[in-house]
Amino acid sequence: MASPAVPTTAPAATPITPVSLKELAPWALFVGVLMLVLLYFVGAEQGATSVFQGENIHEWLHDGRHLLGFPCH
Ligand SMILES: [Zn+2]
Repeated sequence: MASPAVPTTAPAATPITPVSLKELAPWALFVGVLMLVLLYFVGAEQGATSVFQGENIHEWLHDGRHLLGFPCH
């Protein structure tokens, strides 16, 4: 006997357990720090505020600078 293409019964729903703020806080802090580092490299890694010598990092992120509206040249 052939089975129908569309199942007639819905699959059993798995219960969704809420995530507490205590569990979420370290991940939020981690992602926040990552975003700040990314913001630094895109927006301030140039000239007097640069941590690394040379223009390599600036050139790699140059399009992102212009896309986000940071002053560049
Ligand atoms: Zn530029």
